[in-house]
Amino acid sequence: MKRREALRTMGTAAVGIAVLPTSPVGDFRVGGTQEATELLIRGGRVVNADGSRDADVRIRGDIITQIGPGLAPAPGARVIDVSDHLVIPGGIDPHAHLQGAFVDDLATGTAAAVAGGITTVGTFANPAAGESPVEAMDRCLAEVERNAIGDVFFHASLWPPGPETTAAMPELAGRGQPSHKVFMTRRDFATYRGAFIEALEAAREAGVVTLMHCEDGQVLAAVLRRLRASGRTAIRQHYAESRPVVAEVLATQEAVALCELTGAPMHLVHLSAERALDAARTPATRALPLTIETRTLYLYFTEEWLRGPLGPLYVGQPPLRSAADVEAMWAGLADGRIDLLATDHAPWMREQKLDPSLDVGRLRPGVSDLRFMLPVLYSEGVRRGRITAERFVEVTSTAAARTFGLFPERGVLREGSLADITILDPNLERVVTAEDDPSRSDYTPFEGWPITGWPVITIRRGEVVYEDGRVIGEPGSGRPATRLPRLG
Ligand SMILES: [Zn+2]
Repeated sequence: MKRREALRTMGTAAVGIAVLPTSPVGDFRVGGTQEATELLIRGGRVVNADGSRDADVRIRGDIITQIGPGLAPAPGARVIDVSDHLVIPGGIDPHAHLQGAFVDDLATGTAAAVAGGITTVGTFANPAAGESPVEAMDRCLAEVERNAIGDVFFHASLWPPGPETTAAMPELAGRGQPSHKVFMTRRDFATYRGAFIEALEAAREAGVVTLMHCEDGQVLAAVLRRLRASGRTAIRQHYAESRPVVAEVLATQEAVALCELTGAPMHLVHLSAERALDAARTPATRALPLTIETRTLYLYFTEEWLRGPLGPLYVGQPPLRSAADVEAMWAGLADGRIDLLATDHAPWMREQKLDPSLDVGRLRPGVSDLRFMLPVLYSEGVRRGRITAERFVEVTSTAAARTFGLFPERGVLREGSLADITILDPNLERVVTAEDDPSRSDYTPFEGWPITGWPVITIRRGEVVYEDGRVIGEPGSGRPATRLPRLG
């Protein structure tokens, strides 16, 4: 209860309802007056992870106040008629890069997110020179209220582990940001194993989730040394080979063992390979506080894409894998062994990705995909019968809300929850083009794909921020997404 009140005082005061002039918008009928304090979403199919029903949704301020059939609008309410549309919880992407060398910031990154039906984005609070991890967190939280359109949370960066890491855990939890990310790709990872175990113990006590990038740094270094020695460093020919599945399997096994040893909540980011999934999900690991994410790229592309003339555009870490791995990611997503889907949005310009001076040891990994994660998954997943609409909601919103301490404030449509809502037209057909992506990146891996099922309206805390093909939310209207610690 306490947390709910805290969020109320944080979120409500400044929120107004966007009221547009009465006009036809697609097949919606939009009406209302300047005094509207209520938003009524009428005639849609409300989809949650645990079931769907035909119902109206009443929003007052930033809260869902009522869900049920045949709701009458209050005087002055704006009514949005959404018959034949899905009404789903706003997407939550816990893994995007909206800072540093990447070409998006909180403004353009969250613009791409809300255009794609994602209302809450998790990104990284990387310390600047001379800054402590907790100071970095405070700076990043302050930046949200200046630049973001969507709501944002941050994972801290605490490497190398030591006494300061242990001390930082309750500080992060106290700021409502109980998570941090660790790169097992670091060559010194094994050196710090003992200190890292102590950090995990402190994380468990404070309810802080540890995100793990599972590729073994020393294995990667050994393979790179071999490739360099024989002059095989071109991305198109050798990138997949440079980061073998065994590097991911070995690191995944170690991460899971450390989770078992310490009981600390752990989240494996961007898992890409069937053997890594099998290593993480065994009868012995069933009871661990372990969640697994895969990433949009690993559902649609195989390593053959890396070998084409535009191969470097598809470089991410880990690399694209085999067709069997792609099938395993779909199977895991459908059967629950994989908990959720994330973008790992890491945007670059096309020219930067195709820079001829890059090689397997010098990379610009990542792609822009906040804009298209939901529509592509709806089209390729739900419409093709690989996952249900309920599972779609679970892997794009509810599971992330549960994993990162946002539930039930977010990740579900129920009375009392925040009004983070996406209206999705399941029959709308459109072809993907990068011009339709507010990210600064100038290409998308899905260019030219015919997709059926698009977000058409995005509501963030009761405010319409995307409608009629345009982002209308203002930079600075986003807020930090405050989270609960994840305690045993
Ligand atoms: Zn990442």
